[in-house]
Amino acid sequence: MINLSDSKIDFALTAVQTASQLVQEIQTEMVTSALTKEDRTPVTVADFAAQAVVGCHLNRYDPDVSLIGEEDADVLRLEENAEKLEKITGYVSRVIPNASPEGVLDWIDRGRGGVGKEYWTLDPIDGTKGFLRGAQFAVCLGYIQGGKEQIGVLGCPNLNADLEEDLGGEGSLFATARGQGSWVMPLHSPISSPYFSALHVSRKTDTTQARLLRSFESGHTNVDQIVDFTQALNVDVGPVRLDSQAKYALLAGGKAEIYLRLLDGGREGYREKVWDQAAGSLLVEEAGGKVTDLDGKPLDFSQGERLTANRGICATNGFLHPETLKALREIGA
Ligand code: AMP
Ligand code: MG
Repeated sequence: MINLSDSKIDFALTAVQTASQLVQEIQTEMVTSALTKEDRTPVTVADFAAQAVVGCHLNRYDPDVSLIGEEDADVLRLEENAEKLEKITGYVSRVIPNASPEGVLDWIDRGRGGVGKEYWTLDPIDGTKGFLRGAQFAVCLGYIQGGKEQIGVLGCPNLNADLEEDLGGEGSLFATARGQGSWVMPLHSPISSPYFSALHVSRKTDTTQARLLRSFESGHTNVDQIVDFTQALNVDVGPVRLDSQAKYALLAGGKAEIYLRLLDGGREGYREKVWDQAAGSLLVEEAGGKVTDLDGKPLDFSQGERLTANRGICATNGFLHPETLKALREIGA
């Protein structure tokens, strides 16, 4: 079982649960059928509100430790965005009574920290496009020490605790800490006495039946190489396409066998950001799986905001890792 009396774990669970419940409300209230494709207001509001909530909780827990968040408050300080800031403050006040616009700006800017011996890293809304489609997204918080992931918490409002897609349902919270396994509970279960179930990766060893997770957005992966890869491995089942680190959650829970982040043709220089991988990668490893880059190298979170020492991501249930890396070499990924 995960150690709930560890104050770091307690902080991470409480902060991500609170932020996830709030952005669940924002998605329900603001992502409506009247939304035009260009209007990103709901995800902007949710992104900033979630980072403010986590920043506020971190200030209370440990005012000195570094947080690398995806967002900063610069644009919200512009006069033209005063209305947006009001809206965000209104939402944040639902979970942090008496929140002020100045407080919200400071809590968001809590995320301007850098990489050191230890740091937290936050993606307040991972899968922004999924959020706007009314589909999958995740609130992701990871803790790094010595360049390695130590704690990871994912809030997935549209995935239930049985790891099924449940749009508008209760949602789930995934938690892991190094050496303590991977766990899932319903998003609204109390942290003081949570209904945790253990997560274990799939034991499938047959490559023809390997379920492959890929980004919903074609621009975040390499669609041609996905075809080449499935042919090289003789995979007989179609890939599973969804947004955000919810993919890591499905792999950890045995709903798929392989998750690849291939480098998009034309953007081979892309390097992953720490907040996109920290929490989810540990969730898979602690559930018994394996996570490396496309060359089989362990992920190195000591380099900066991006994983500059790694190329892409190769995550599997462990059993299929050698064959997956071999197929990646064969197709020149
Ligand atoms: P996903 O939902 O798995 O497609 O991942 C979403 C994340 O992909 C976002 O948080 C971005 O940081 C990241 N991303 C943005 N552009 C790219 C790219 N060209 N290749 C890979 N990932 C990207
Ligand atoms: Mg992201």
